Amino acid sequence: MNQSSATASGTLYVVATPIGNLNDITLRALEVLNQCDLVACEDTRHSMRLFQAHGITTKTVALHQHNEAKQSHKLIERLINGDDVALVSDAGTPLISDPGFPLLGLAHENNIKVVPIPGPSALIALLSVAAINTQPFVFHGFVPPKSKQRVAEFVSWLETTATHVYYESSHRIVASIEALIEVFGETAEVAMGRELTKTFEQIFTGTAIELLQLVESNNNHQKGEFVLAVLNKKPAVSDEIGSQPAALIAQLMPLLPPKTVAKVVADHYGLNKKQVYNFILRQATT
Ligand code: SAM
Repeated sequence: MNQSSATASGTLYVVATPIGNLNDITLRALEVLNQCDLVACEDTRHSMRLFQAHGITTKTVALHQHNEAKQSHKLIERLINGDDVALVSDAGTPLISDPGFPLLGLAHENNIKVVPIPGPSALIALLSVAAINTQPFVFHGFVPPKSKQRVAEFVSWLETTATHVYYESSHRIVASIEALIEVFGETAEVAMGRELTKTFEQIFTGTAIELLQLVESNNNHQKGEFVLAVLNKKPAVSDEIGSQPAALIAQLMPLLPPKTVAKVVADHYGLNKKQVYNFILRQATT
């Protein structure tokens, strides 16, 4: 594909591919995939479906998390020798919770020309339709799999004003929504995209408790691939609970679980239990 002199390096194209609907591919992506010398795929068999649908016959090689350290060096050799290489993942944009970081690092180190071929990404697809605040938004990749880490992860964002976006799988979607509720509250503004661009696409915007009810109301709503977004608003100074309740919390925390402390302190000072509990969670992160 490279028309310049034989010694010039090739170009590394980072090509976004569909997240479900095989027609979601740009004309430029098709051109690059057809004309490059080699396509590095996260899973060559998976990409074959897309290639067959669009008549792409370019040679492929696997580049996944288990071989990318070694494979990246081989691909850099090819690029240095003048071949054009395209990188694709199983779905969406490479490097967005997908392999490719070592390859791109080496490409930059070796002054290889790198060209993005932009296209779908599940997180952007959800944010584009959810009507949840997108400025600022923070993308965190997958929700941590273990319950303690999951809660700690969400708690660490309590001091921000931002929409936090996560990827989640069908196995843990209910647990993750429950953790969202525990940390951000039942009325937190959330959005969910399930099976985006696919036959059973489902898009939801509303409160966290409504989302839990929706997902639990039908087992089919727990199937497939998910993007979750939650809007956290940093508490205003007026949400602070005052020095006396804070002092009682400090005394009780070594003795009682946080939820019990929140109840005791809220009852004692006539405060809102959720407000006190959030205060306790915020203290834990600072
Ligand atoms: N690189 C991809 C991108 O740009 O979106 C993401 C790859 S990551 C390994 C896969 C995760 O993305 C899935 O587990 C799911 O959380 C999310 N995802 C991918 N496709 C999706 C879709 N069609 N609908 C909803 N979420 C999707």
